[in-house]
Amino acid sequence: MELKNLRQTLAAQALKRQMERAIKAESAPFKPPAMDAGRTARQARERFEAMPQYQQIKIMQVGGDKLGVASPFFRVHEGIAGATTRIGGRAYINYSSYNYLGMSGDPLVSARAKEAIDQYGTSASASRAVAGERPIHRQLERALADFYEAEDCVVFVSGYATNVAAVSYLFGPGDLIVHDELAHNSIAQGAQLSGAKRLIFPHNDWNALDALLRRARREYRHALIAIEGIYSMDGDLPDLERFVEVKTRHEAFLMVDEAHSLGVLGRTGRGIREHTGVPPGAIDLWMGTLSKTLAGCGGFIAGCQPMVEMLRASAPGFMYSVGIPPALAAASLAALERLQAEPERIAALQTHGKLFLDAARAAGLNTGASAGYSVIPVITGSSLKAVHWSNALFEQGINVQPIFYPAVEEKTARLRFFICSTHQPEQIEHTIKIMAQLAQ
Ligand code: PMP
Repeated sequence: MELKNLRQTLAAQALKRQMERAIKAESAPFKPPAMDAGRTARQARERFEAMPQYQQIKIMQVGGDKLGVASPFFRVHEGIAGATTRIGGRAYINYSSYNYLGMSGDPLVSARAKEAIDQYGTSASASRAVAGERPIHRQLERALADFYEAEDCVVFVSGYATNVAAVSYLFGPGDLIVHDELAHNSIAQGAQLSGAKRLIFPHNDWNALDALLRRARREYRHALIAIEGIYSMDGDLPDLERFVEVKTRHEAFLMVDEAHSLGVLGRTGRGIREHTGVPPGAIDLWMGTLSKTLAGCGGFIAGCQPMVEMLRASAPGFMYSVGIPPALAAASLAALERLQAEPERIAALQTHGKLFLDAARAAGLNTGASAGYSVIPVITGSSLKAVHWSNALFEQGINVQPIFYPAVEEKTARLRFFICSTHQPEQIEHTIKIMAQLAQ
């Protein structure tokens, strides 16, 4: 009984105190609730630190430190990066740039970009649907459509976003997306985001793709096959004619990502279709980036008018993202025009690719399946060796990036060389000589 009274008394006192506090708070000026901002920030930080993605980065860093290998990534280039570059005040032969035809830094290309800045400023400000276009947007799209002998073309602000936006918007649940196992991450991301069934076929294996479609095709409404003109890790090519046959047989759409083959393959740089003689209309979606041979930033899809119209009218990745900056559109248009006017640049790139490949093979280096154009790997066989070789080459004035696990399988860790029209044969020979010494 006494206990009950005591509880009641305490409860009444607590209520009184609460009411007094409430009255006081109402009459007092507003004060935000007391919060230990430092503590909250520390807690958020700890939660980020515990994320597996962060742990993975730290494991790599600690591993690198323990082995005494400096990170070869995020190097600061102090000028135009092409066949040569400047890092930390020192000149390097450079193989880490996609400036395949030397168009980035070309005085005429830069002049066109500068003119566009003077005329339109530096930003397109918002989505082209909302903030409006500049004449250069449509001029670039028309020029790309003509280059691909396609009905129309739409340019996105990023190459990566082009694949994600186009694939995820055009296809959805009930559809099938099949892509090469080595297709770029942006294709895989687009497929995942689409909600379509995603299947993967072994690299360049059109026979396996055919068998897969024979089994699975009828269960789905639309089917998309996505491949690349030149594969970005291995520098090899698909047998385009066979892929066209397969896509025709199974009433599928075929998309070819020409990031590394536009301006690289074919006598006039028209990519894998010129290289193989396949008519342009046989491919339903031509995709390309503006960041490589076209000296800008962005991506495009060229193809038939209804498909391009859909993308332009309602693909979220286009509608809800800013238009390409006019200066970059101007740079890419200028590069596309120069590429067509100066096929000798393309010939030089092809000569240098072949020279690199032949010399590397003759030196006993493993170049994998590379066809010897824009991308040539030298497979070291272990991640550690790839990083060691990259650092050793760097010390000798050669900049090339290692690619290692998990980007590729451990046993196929490599150095990846991007070949430019502007490389000199002596630079290539010198590079191979040093690598041959490292391999001994
Ligand atoms: N596709 C392929 C095959 C690529 O290699 C890349 C990037 N190198 C992209 C798309 C994305 O292009 P961007 O870097 O211009 O966004």
